Amino acid sequence: MTDVPGSLIVFQQRFPDEASCAAYLAAVRWPQGFVCPRCGHTKAWLLQTKAWTYECAGGRKQTSVTAGTILHASKLPLSLWFWAAYLMATHSNGISAGQLRQQLALGSYKTAWLLCAKLRASMVAPDRSPLAGLVEGDQTEIACRSKYDPPTGGGRRHRRHRRHQGKILVVGAVAVEDSGAGLGRIRLQEVSDYSADSLHPSLAANLALGTTAKTDGWSGYPGAPGVNHDPRTIGKMAAHVVPPSTHRVFANLKAWALGVYHGLRRKHLQSYLDEFVFRFNRRRHRHAGFRSLLGIAAGHPPLAYKMLISPEATA
Ligand SMILES: [Zn+2]
Repeated sequence: MTDVPGSLIVFQQRFPDEASCAAYLAAVRWPQGFVCPRCGHTKAWLLQTKAWTYECAGGRKQTSVTAGTILHASKLPLSLWFWAAYLMATHSNGISAGQLRQQLALGSYKTAWLLCAKLRASMVAPDRSPLAGLVEGDQTEIACRSKYDPPTGGGRRHRRHRRHQGKILVVGAVAVEDSGAGLGRIRLQEVSDYSADSLHPSLAANLALGTTAKTDGWSGYPGAPGVNHDPRTIGKMAAHVVPPSTHRVFANLKAWALGVYHGLRRKHLQSYLDEFVFRFNRRRHRHAGFRSLLGIAAGHPPLAYKMLISPEATA
């Protein structure tokens, strides 16, 4: 009942209307049947006057099936949210607001953009676990583009001077699986510069205590609390060789940024990095992303449009 369909055809058959989407939300939330969040009563009726809202037979408390998800209090149909989350979760490269507007025949670009922004905001689970074990860490620069710039290519690294004019600075961490055989989970974070003061909080936020971090030996890395540092000091010509996993991730990130978004802008950068990380970490099971995107069981508070366009106002 609560599994996620593996194809568009099955998805369409599974969620043909509002009632089927509401039933799915109720089943995910109350697998054993309705339970009142206030008094624990299991007897309730669906209100005729409010969409997809139960009223408890005990205390008359009203509970919507969308409460606690990103669909809550939205004027858009549930089925539209379901389609948007499904398309965004299953497209291997994601989907831009313009593409979503076209695919779902949305009335305005603003509606499409808001849908995308809300789905993207669900991509960081509040309880996600930090990377652990052996982790490669490295930094890169991405050429950013302004509103008026034509789309440009990814940035060149300046390893000796660490210059960053017109660039977005990003640190990346990649968990190394099976002693280097495969790429595990990743994390990407925007930083203001490559000093220890900027790098250490990023390491602390993304790596578990006792993690061994392999880096290129840049002086900003050593000394991060709780992290065993394993510097691989290398000459400037060897930048593309070590550490290899992070370089693969950075190359993918830059190709993705160009392909889907025609280059990234400084504004909202972290949310795009989060989207890339979300996609990368679920590349082997894309459908699993559908539920996370709707905010189901993740406990995301509903986001207002204002918060999305200026996240710093609420930080
Ligand atoms: Zn109750």
